[in-house]
Amino acid sequence: MKRIMLFFLTIIGLLCNANGATLINDTEVEYGITEIIKPIAKAANIPENRLKIYIINDDSFNAFVRGGEDVFIYTGLLKQIKSPNALRAVVAHELGHTIGGHMIQIADKMQAEMMRTMIIQALGIGLMVAGGNPSAGAGVLAGSAGVAQQSMLSFSRDEERMADDLAVDLMVKANEDPNGLIEVFQQMHDIQGAFETRINPNRINHPLTSERLNNAKTKIGKLKNTPKKSKNQIAKEKTNYDILRAKLIGYLDTDKTVLTLYPYKDKSDAAIYARAIANMRAGNLGTAKTGIQTLIKRHPKSPYFYEMLGDIEYQYGHYDDSVDAYKQSLTLSNNAPQIETALAVVLAERNKSGDKEHAGELCRRVILNEPSPLAYWILARVSDSATSDWAMAEFYKMNKDEKNAKKYAKLARKKAKKGSPEYIKSGDILKK
Ligand SMILES: [Zn+2]
Repeated sequence: MKRIMLFFLTIIGLLCNANGATLINDTEVEYGITEIIKPIAKAANIPENRLKIYIINDDSFNAFVRGGEDVFIYTGLLKQIKSPNALRAVVAHELGHTIGGHMIQIADKMQAEMMRTMIIQALGIGLMVAGGNPSAGAGVLAGSAGVAQQSMLSFSRDEERMADDLAVDLMVKANEDPNGLIEVFQQMHDIQGAFETRINPNRINHPLTSERLNNAKTKIGKLKNTPKKSKNQIAKEKTNYDILRAKLIGYLDTDKTVLTLYPYKDKSDAAIYARAIANMRAGNLGTAKTGIQTLIKRHPKSPYFYEMLGDIEYQYGHYDDSVDAYKQSLTLSNNAPQIETALAVVLAERNKSGDKEHAGELCRRVILNEPSPLAYWILARVSDSATSDWAMAEFYKMNKDEKNAKKYAKLARKKAKKGSPEYIKSGDILKK
């Protein structure tokens, strides 16, 4: 049975009425976070290829594990948590709930609702900027107060303590420093402190952060030796993680916040990245391009800086340069459906000889690996009429628009050759 485990449960309110919660699809962020979480997942006996990271665009300080191997992490948490080791500790705590078998009653209903509302809305963040308006951060404090309120409804005091204990064990087993957990509690304490003082501890069965902090300190204090990495290793991990955070902040926060966190005097990769992204969003394409070119010069083997160059050139309307940049990005990365989709978008738009065919190939590959409404939509745009109608039917099906899904499936059935994949798949849509 699939289970949903929540970290400081927030999801109920967010998802049961959730048109708001959106998944962010971004190869760089997903890949980077998978690398950070891997050792903990391994310690929890999750097979490496089963671990899947989902990023939820929401300012809550929250994360949870579903089904024991799907890890959901909120952008609010990623923006707040400043070290990869603290992030590992959060996930270790969540896996602690999984291992401990802690279960919340509404889990199954929420799971269905969650997948329905979120997967459909998944968007690449680059494409979000090109095509839509990502919701700006709602303010960390407001979000966190909501989290604190909700968390009282969730796991019991004992379950939280047990998950914390298991988190320390998992960190040690993974050969990671369990003090990451202390970092998390200190962070939570800072955020929630003002809120907690207004709560009467006798009326709730949820442990206060300060209590959890003390428990974790005691538990870690009893360890014979705590795993420690070399300074170099820690610094390298932190630099990589900073880049991911800068990307999220650049895309999701206001210009003002970006410049407060990453002032011009800061010449680090992360700061240049965040400012370049903020500039791209503001339409300052020249400044954005200068920034990203600096980063490409510093890291000519990073696929993601080329990806962003492709985004910028696309917004300029420089389709040839955009295609070149995305191609370079794809050469440097392996399996990046979001970048393939972005390239397909530009090819469909440019429409030189051979572009439609190439875009169609890319979409079909994306659909095979990680189907998305956008990939179907582009496939429809670049295909002959039977395939196009079938792709539109799939597009509407993913968007839960049954009526239009059936309408296009019928059209595809009429035009497609009997027995062809389009014919069969359209038939499947009509059956349901
Ligand atoms: Zn918990």
